Order: sequence, then structure tokens, then C-alpha cells
Amino acid sequence: MAATNAYAAMDPKSPLGPFTLERRTPGPNDVQIEILYCGVCHSDIHQVRDEWGGSIFPMVPGHEIVGRVTAVGAQVTQFKPGDLAGVGCFVDSCRTCPNCQAGIEQYCDEGMVGTYNGRERHTQAPTYGGYSTQIVVDEKYTLRVSDKLPLAGVAPLLCAGITTYSPLRHVGVGKGHKVGVLGLGGLGHMAVKFAASFGAEVTMLSSSPSKEADARKLGAHHFALTSDPATMKQLRNHFDFILNTVSAPHDYSTYLNLLRTNGTMIVVGVPPSPSAVPAFDLIMQRRSIIGSLIGGIRETQEMLDYCAEHNIVSEVEVIPVQQINEAYERMIKGDVRYRFVIDTASLRS
Ligand code: NAP
Ligand code: ZN
Ligand code: ZN
Repeated sequence: MAATNAYAAMDPKSPLGPFTLERRTPGPNDVQIEILYCGVCHSDIHQVRDEWGGSIFPMVPGHEIVGRVTAVGAQVTQFKPGDLAGVGCFVDSCRTCPNCQAGIEQYCDEGMVGTYNGRERHTQAPTYGGYSTQIVVDEKYTLRVSDKLPLAGVAPLLCAGITTYSPLRHVGVGKGHKVGVLGLGGLGHMAVKFAASFGAEVTMLSSSPSKEADARKLGAHHFALTSDPATMKQLRNHFDFILNTVSAPHDYSTYLNLLRTNGTMIVVGVPPSPSAVPAFDLIMQRRSIIGSLIGGIRETQEMLDYCAEHNIVSEVEVIPVQQINEAYERMIKGDVRYRFVIDTASLRS
């Protein structure tokens, strides 16, 4: 066991603060990782504040982890000390159900084990995430990370990256498609980069006029202000796909109406309360809504390799962990450009 510095939420109402946890001694299949950077996902806020229900406290959030391997178990073959490694949203699953066998462990029949706010399969011990200095993970749930990219910008790929890459690939986004990305935050900015990289014509649908120039720099061909009725009217029946990343309650109907015949809204944002879906908005143009949860280990590795090859990283604002509560407040206001990433050196000093 190793005592590990961390930052935790003790309950849904208090600010996060210093905390010490124990990491297990690496077993035969484990990789021990010194965490260097951890991205800050809006899901961290939803769970810290128990907005989805069932949160486990104390909670050490963080599922966008990159670092350096410090030790490996005797049976580990893919990693050695000194390698870069990544950990995303889950650290285990049943490994035997059809979905685990198919490499879509995030849809495990028995439920994936979240990197934090989850419970270990055998001991039921709570899992603790990446707002900490080290983590021990089975190599099957550990990702290889290229040394070609700036590491702080790689961390958010482990959630924001795969959560947008996976559904865009699943529906086959490419040349000739008109794609709308709703919400320019951590997920949204990665969605713009990937959809543009896959050859689609990308429109940023944002409630923040101040983000227009950035949206274009990220690769969006068009920018539409969602609060402008004339723009929204002009975009009716326009998109093949809309990737909806919004974290707060909003009206699905407004955006369903922007889909053309057979168009699909892909929901990845998880507001704490449900949104109404009027049947008319679906039947009139045979529109669909689908949802998507992160991505499996195999596809996450494919995405990391794609990013290394195409020089894709997240745009980050690196912060010491001591600024985490302020960062949460800024994210809730939509004031993030475009991912906060914790430099865990701030937990060592
Ligand atoms: P984020 O960085 O905070 O970005 C969310 C963006 O949504 C904001 O920047 C803002 O963009 C827009 N927004 C916020 N409040 C809004 C409102 N009231 N009305 C309209 N737009 C609003 O969040 P994130 O980390 O990208 O996460 C987004 C959501 O995805 C969260 O709910 C998170 O839990 C969820 N998530 C899901 C998965 C999955 O597997 N499906 C994985 C990770 C995260 P504009 O300023 O451009 O409007
Ligand atoms: Zn996340
Ligand atoms: Zn399974």
C-alpha cells in the first residue's frame, strides 16, 4: 500500500480539499503510474455535487489521466517503467460478457468499474480518480500514450476525446456530411476537431458569442449563435448529425428541428434533469436520437494513435489543484477554453 496525496470532495456541498488515500501494491497484472496531468470533466462536477444520484464520498474525481509508469507486475507485457500511460473513465469490467468480449467494455452487462465514484469488483472498495499523485490499474485498462504530443493536451483525450471520437466514427461521419456541434466546452471542442478532421462540414452551435473566433480556429466552418432566432430559423432541416454536448438542462426540440430528413442527434451531454422529446419533431423528418457513452479500450487506443498521427490535442488551461473549486465555477458558467487540466506537481509540493 502506498499513501497518496489527493484532492477530494467530502460531501456534495463542500469545496474540494486535500485528502490522503491508499493505493494498492501492484499485483501481477497491474501497472503503477505516477500521474502527471489530469483533465477536469464536467462529469466530475455532476458527480461531486451528486447531481446524478448515488455518489460515493469521500470522492477523488478525475478520469482523464496521463503519467509515467513507475512499476509493473510480473505478468505485464505492454508496459515497462518509464513508459507514458493513460487511464480513462473505467478501470475494470466483467471481461466475459458479450460487450466486454466485443471491446465495448463501457456497456458491460455487469457495469464498468468507474475510475472514481465506483467500486472494485472483488473488494467493493471505492475507486479514487486522478486528482492524485499516483494510480494502480490492470494493464488491460491502461492506454499507451505517444511521446510526440504535449502531455497536458493529451490528458483530456481520455474522456472528452474518446466520447466525441467514438460516436462520430459509429455513425460514419465524413465528407459530404453537415455536422452541428452543440456546446463549445471540453467535449465540444474535441468534437469540432474530430468532425473537421474526418472531412465533415462543421457548424459550431454555441450560446456564447465570444467563442466564435476560437470555434473557427478549432476547425469549424460556420458558427451559429443558438440565441439568435433568425440563425436558428435559417438552419431548420439542415444537419445530418448534431452532437449534443450540453451539460445543463435545455430544450431538445429546438435542435431536433435543425436535423434534415433521417438526421440524427447524438446525445453525449448528461444534464441532471430529463428533456422532453416531442414526437412530432421525430416523425416529421424521420429523425433519430441516439446516446453514446465514452468508448471501449480498443477504440480509445485507436483514438490516441489517430491523435498522435494527426497532431490532435485538447486546448488546455493548466491549473494547480488548489484552483479546482474556482475552475468548477467557471465551467458551470461556460467559461472554459477549453479544458482545465490539473498539473499534479501541485499535489507533491
Ligand atoms: P463543459 O466543458 O462544461 O462544456 C459544456 C458546454 O455546454 C459549455 O461550455 C456551453 O457551451 C454549453 N452549455 C452549458 N450550459 C448551457 C446551457 N444552460 N445552455 C446551453 N448551453 C450550455 O462540459 P464537458 O466536460 O464538455 O461535458 C459536457 C457534458 O457531457 C456533461 O454533462 C458531461 O457530464 C457529459 N459527458 C458525457 C460523457 C459520455 O460518455 N456521454 C462523457 C463525458 C462527459 P457554449 O458556451 O458554447 O454554449
Ligand atoms: Zn469525463
Ligand atoms: Zn462485461
